[in-house]
Amino acid sequence: MPEPSRALPQPTPETQHFWDGTREGELRLQRCDGCGKAYFPPRPFCASCGSRKVSVFKASGKGTLWSYVIHHRPVAGFTPPYAIAVVQLAEGPRMMSNIVECAQTPEALQLDMPLEVVFEKQNDSITLPLFRPAKG
Ligand SMILES: [Zn+2]
Repeated sequence: MPEPSRALPQPTPETQHFWDGTREGELRLQRCDGCGKAYFPPRPFCASCGSRKVSVFKASGKGTLWSYVIHHRPVAGFTPPYAIAVVQLAEGPRMMSNIVECAQTPEALQLDMPLEVVFEKQNDSITLPLFRPAKG
């Protein structure tokens, strides 16, 4: 029997640029043209100042491990234990993701450890941004 696949996000008009980016190997964030703040998740206005003048830009893909929880129960598409992590991106916003190429243990998952994005294609429309320990 094939493994049940993980639940995937559905692109919306507001998030399409993000999924177009991951498919092309780019992590795209938005930045307010008014106050300069970078933000995520995608939305058509700045949550800080309310400006609707916002731009999409390519992020570095660098970040650090902000926090995480380790799940021990099986969920479709995941083999426990696995960590659900919050990554502090270098540009400022935080993003929920998974940490790959790393043991899913508190010993291996050190807070503030440097991470870098990797892209994992799920299907023709969705490529997920995941993070692995930065390789220098
Ligand atoms: Zn703003």
